[in-house]
Amino acid sequence: MTASADIRGTTSPASSPPALTDVLRDLFGFPAFRAHQEPVIRALLAARDAFVVMPTGGGKSLCYQLPAHLLEGTCVVVSPLISLMKDQVDAATATGLRAAYLNSALWPWEQNEVSHHLLRGGLDLLYVSPERLAMPQFLATLARIRLSFFAVDEAHCISEWGHDFRPDYLGLATLTERFPGTPIAAFTATATPRVQEDIIDKLRLRSPLLVRASFNRPNLFYRIRPKVNPAKQILSFVRKHAGQAGIIYRTTRRSVEETATQLRDHGVRAVAYHAGLEDRERAANQEAFNRDEVDVVVATIAFGMGIDKSNVRYVLHADLPRSLEGYYQETGRAGRDGEPAECFLLLGFGDIPKLRYFNEQIPEEAERKHANRCLAAMVSFATVYACRRKQLLSYFDEVYSPPSCGACDVCAGEVESVDATRDAQIVMSAIVRTGQRFGMGHVIDVVAGASTERIHALGHDRIKTYGIGADRPRHHWRLVLDHLIAQGLVAQSGKEYPTLSVRPTARDVLGGAVPFFVSISRDRVPARQSTPSPGAPIAAGAQDADLFEVLRGLRRRLAGELGVPPYVVFSDRTLREMAALRPACDAELLGVTGVGQRKLEQFGMAFLEAIAAFVAGRRTAPPALPPPASGGR
Ligand code: ADP
Ligand code: ZN
Repeated sequence: MTASADIRGTTSPASSPPALTDVLRDLFGFPAFRAHQEPVIRALLAARDAFVVMPTGGGKSLCYQLPAHLLEGTCVVVSPLISLMKDQVDAATATGLRAAYLNSALWPWEQNEVSHHLLRGGLDLLYVSPERLAMPQFLATLARIRLSFFAVDEAHCISEWGHDFRPDYLGLATLTERFPGTPIAAFTATATPRVQEDIIDKLRLRSPLLVRASFNRPNLFYRIRPKVNPAKQILSFVRKHAGQAGIIYRTTRRSVEETATQLRDHGVRAVAYHAGLEDRERAANQEAFNRDEVDVVVATIAFGMGIDKSNVRYVLHADLPRSLEGYYQETGRAGRDGEPAECFLLLGFGDIPKLRYFNEQIPEEAERKHANRCLAAMVSFATVYACRRKQLLSYFDEVYSPPSCGACDVCAGEVESVDATRDAQIVMSAIVRTGQRFGMGHVIDVVAGASTERIHALGHDRIKTYGIGADRPRHHWRLVLDHLIAQGLVAQSGKEYPTLSVRPTARDVLGGAVPFFVSISRDRVPARQSTPSPGAPIAAGAQDADLFEVLRGLRRRLAGELGVPPYVVFSDRTLREMAALRPACDAELLGVTGVGQRKLEQFGMAFLEAIAAFVAGRRTAPPALPPPASGGR
């Protein structure tokens, strides 16, 4: 196996190991490795298999790109989405790697050119689809060249237990047999142990280095609010984030279209994305979002894997997701660049029975139970008064020990937990005493002491709890009921006229042995809206923000000229650092995170000029800044 581990320019792998941090700085422009990157790279340099679980944005691509650059031969990257390959290759090329892709979207002559390159040993990285790896002709080509290793991206696609199973990934099972001397590194962001085992087994990895990074995403702020008037809430949220890239998830195609139209009517650059659109339109919308030509994409969960955009600043769930796995994956698309981003969920209590109803339609029992368990975990996450981050991580068996994360609505003190034990007892008693045959409206009528015909006709004005809650507004009782249902103490059944009944689980609360809490949002949300403390964003003054916008415009223009997405040129983080540090020469520019040798050559001049022009303009524009200290550069 070691035969394939020759490092370029060295005679044997044993000769002086390369200073990896030097390569990291020169090639990628990063000062340090992120957690777990270095061990994975070292394993690959030593020709060992690796299995890597890292959350989205964790920096998986660098784990194979860096060794691919150092090792003799070509690294074959298996990637599930043809639509992404071009962007991936553009990004790798902009970094200075010798990369290409082969897929059916290329013309035959283009494919020949790539193969030619490959055979000449001119590629560090070759991106291919799993289907390609099943083609005899391609396999024959691979047999003729020197391979450094295989990198299997989105490796969970090989598992039927995963959420994106792709049958053509099963073909990868024969890789170890066909290329016994070539190591394999598998990468995924899917967290469950079951999927993990399945991947290792199916890919037949040989005692791989196992790496499981933390699933915490410190730069994401989690916030949940009750869904009251979604159209208005969505619009006001998007306005607060004007000019930023965001994804809004909705459950149905219709609501996707409605929201997208509504946003456009209010001047927001928004497009829709769902499986009902024609392929061409869907691809065009995704592309427009990817290239910062529109700010918002309103989508069903069909929108996901194809999105590699690193500067998504928020993910808004306007409907309750079905599972925490889904919620985690979807929110994970925000802030891949490590800059602050917000995950905002509108909790519609009406969504819960709807989803339960859908689950009940699942014919297969095990699957139905699984779906119900997933939903219960989601509901508990959204309704229980506890740090969102802690809950989310604990769902993935990870302990988050700090007492407060500082970057969720609970820890930020935006919601509070109120003891509603007595009110819960009142409501449940009303449900029981009216025979567990009535819906929410009637139960609230009873508690609030409404004088309706129905109440009198049924004699419900004579039961003990009648009017006992008249001193509180109806919406208070609604809130208590919502929470009782969400927390599983009260059942709501029947589709057309759902009726309420008290579940056995409510016994302890009814008996007063266990308290019952509801969480309510404080009216006034602190002014600090979406700037979590971790991830240490650079504090941006108003001028920095102006310069950032100038640089963003320049980035968009350069990307347009090159036909690549803007993030391929530089990430938001890089631009923000430039705006704050205002480098004035190549050496200073190289000190900015994300500026490596290649990007310096390609884009350095343009950015330095823009920064210099901005600084000069600022100096002469009123009100004048103090003159620069004499003897400056
Ligand atoms: P993943 O594939 O795990 O979702 P990516 O490989 O796209 O993540 O990396 C996410 C972002 O993090 C990219 O913008 C990448 O350039 C950046 N990144 C990766 N490694 C580092 C590092 N060591 N230092 C700074 N930024 C990094
Ligand atoms: Zn928290």
